[in-house]
Amino acid sequence: MTSSSSGPQPATALAAPRTLRSLAWVVWGAVAVMLAACHFLVPPSHPVAEAVFYCLVSGGTAVAMAVGIRLHRPAARTVWWLLAGGQVMYVGGDVAYFVATAGGSTNYPVLANVLYLSQYVFVAAALVLLGRRRSPQRNTAALIDTAILAVAAAVLWWVFLIHPAVAAPGFSALDRVAATIYPVMDLCVLTVAIRMLLGGGARQRSYLLLLTFLALTLFADTAYGLLTLHGVYETGGWSDAVYLTSYLALGAAALHRSMRQVADPVEDRSGATLYRVVLLAVATLVAPVVLIVQNLRQVATSDLVVVTASAVLFLLVLTRMAGLVSAQRRIAMTDALTGVYTRRFLSEALRVESGRAARHGDLLAMLLVDVDHFKRINDTYGHPAGDQVLKEVAHRLREACRGTDVVARFGGEEFAVLVTGEAPDGLAALAERLRKRIAGAPVLVDGHTAIAVTVSVGAAALPGEASTEQLLVAADDALYAAKRGGRNRVVMSDPERAAAYAPTGSDSADIDRQIQRWTVMVGEALRCRADGPDVPATMVAGVCAAWALMRIGRPGYPVLSAEQARAELQRCRGVQLHPCAVDEFLALEAAGVVGTPESTAAPLLAATMVG
Ligand code: GH3
Ligand code: MG
Ligand code: MG
Repeated sequence: MTSSSSGPQPATALAAPRTLRSLAWVVWGAVAVMLAACHFLVPPSHPVAEAVFYCLVSGGTAVAMAVGIRLHRPAARTVWWLLAGGQVMYVGGDVAYFVATAGGSTNYPVLANVLYLSQYVFVAAALVLLGRRRSPQRNTAALIDTAILAVAAAVLWWVFLIHPAVAAPGFSALDRVAATIYPVMDLCVLTVAIRMLLGGGARQRSYLLLLTFLALTLFADTAYGLLTLHGVYETGGWSDAVYLTSYLALGAAALHRSMRQVADPVEDRSGATLYRVVLLAVATLVAPVVLIVQNLRQVATSDLVVVTASAVLFLLVLTRMAGLVSAQRRIAMTDALTGVYTRRFLSEALRVESGRAARHGDLLAMLLVDVDHFKRINDTYGHPAGDQVLKEVAHRLREACRGTDVVARFGGEEFAVLVTGEAPDGLAALAERLRKRIAGAPVLVDGHTAIAVTVSVGAAALPGEASTEQLLVAADDALYAAKRGGRNRVVMSDPERAAAYAPTGSDSADIDRQIQRWTVMVGEALRCRADGPDVPATMVAGVCAAWALMRIGRPGYPVLSAEQARAELQRCRGVQLHPCAVDEFLALEAAGVVGTPESTAAPLLAATMVG
């Protein structure tokens, strides 16, 4: 019984604070509007009452902020206390100002100004802290963008506010200091606010209210500066309304329950969206446009400052562009999933390495690594687990390779390693090390699922003059041999087969000359026979070319040993090849007259003919 009667009570007790927490900002809004209305409704003949209502709103804002902090207990309490501290300074400034100017005193309100200026320090500190909490990571791009916008704003402030005030004839020294220092402080606050804004992220209601407060304050300050400069400022009126609205927004920001999330870290953006590019372009144009406008108006401006700002903007934009180019390059080079190089980068590295290997007479070596039965892994554990496996395979490959080797993702579940300066023995050892490193321990996915992974590796090493396509074809052939051989193994490209991929292109003229020479010699020998049949020269050339093709090889054709080539000629004798031409060729070949390289082609042919 007791429990049933006491049960609902805690729920009711909790409900009240929850309602209070969600409605506090609305209550504050209503109270602030009422107090502001009173400020405007009081006749000008009662300046003290006017000032009291004004201070009730600005002071009430500080109280509202303290209540908001107690009510919502945000993690980033310091940010909010700093903002509240700034508001206290402001109220203090207002009170000091009213007291100092009460009774028509024309003395400069020093204390009020000190308090007003302190408010800037508090607000700027709060914004810096807030920006750092929202975007804890270093973001050079956002900093440069902030600098571009801040310099553009500084040009406007300088040309239209600071410079005219400094140069104005009727201003006292203190007036000049004030006319300079307030815009500078506003600029500082604007700069940290821009940096925070460029960080992006969720814009909670509390965050938007905070931005409203900043925007209105900066607007009112600037308007105040301009009106004072041109001698048309009148106390009260619409500028009071703007300030009061900004306080209302600040109090509401602290009382809205979303104030707890305002300082949560966000994903920092550094890209260049269209909106941002347009914004930066406009900012960059500010300095030259201002110069043109001032020249057209024939108003004296400090051109040197504007031109310097223009140069600074130009350099900042160049720096930003350089950053974007290098970011794009990084993206093009790096595989998004595994973090190893992309195939595009591999092609470029292959091109460079092939040139170097050709110049130094080194071998060009490559491994192709393919995950075995990867489709099964996807089917059994799901695509995300498959992705984890690919990441781990790439990681292990990178760990097992040297820093100079280029590990790249070649295709879906296939990786390539471009190995530099390695002899075939070393290449085989490296390939075996990679295979064992991957097969050695299962990949742990989601911290508990262990997936056994093996890879097949195809390895190829060709002379530096080989084309990159030839190298890839050789490694691919070896990989397929590894798959056919049962997977989880390394296959080195067969040196005899590898020679079939070796370069022939640039020396094909020499080979053609050899074929012509053999054709002439075999033809002569046939004609010299008393009983010799009349064999057309094209038939003789066909036999010589077949021999060259078999012994030297062309891409896609294996190189045959002399023995194999002889057997092949015999096999085709009388079928595709003229029997007499074959007999005569083989007789001369046995005597060492034809079929072996000679003259300028000798070194190349000797290098490519095997057996
Ligand atoms: P084999 O041993 O013959 O290489 O068999 P396999 O299953 O590994 O080869 P197959 O080419 O049949 O399948 C490769 C699979 O890799 C098919 C494709 O869905 C998957 N794959 C390709 N890219 C990705 C990727 O980025 N993530 C995941 N999870 N799977 C991928
Ligand atoms: Mg596979
Ligand atoms: Mg594959």
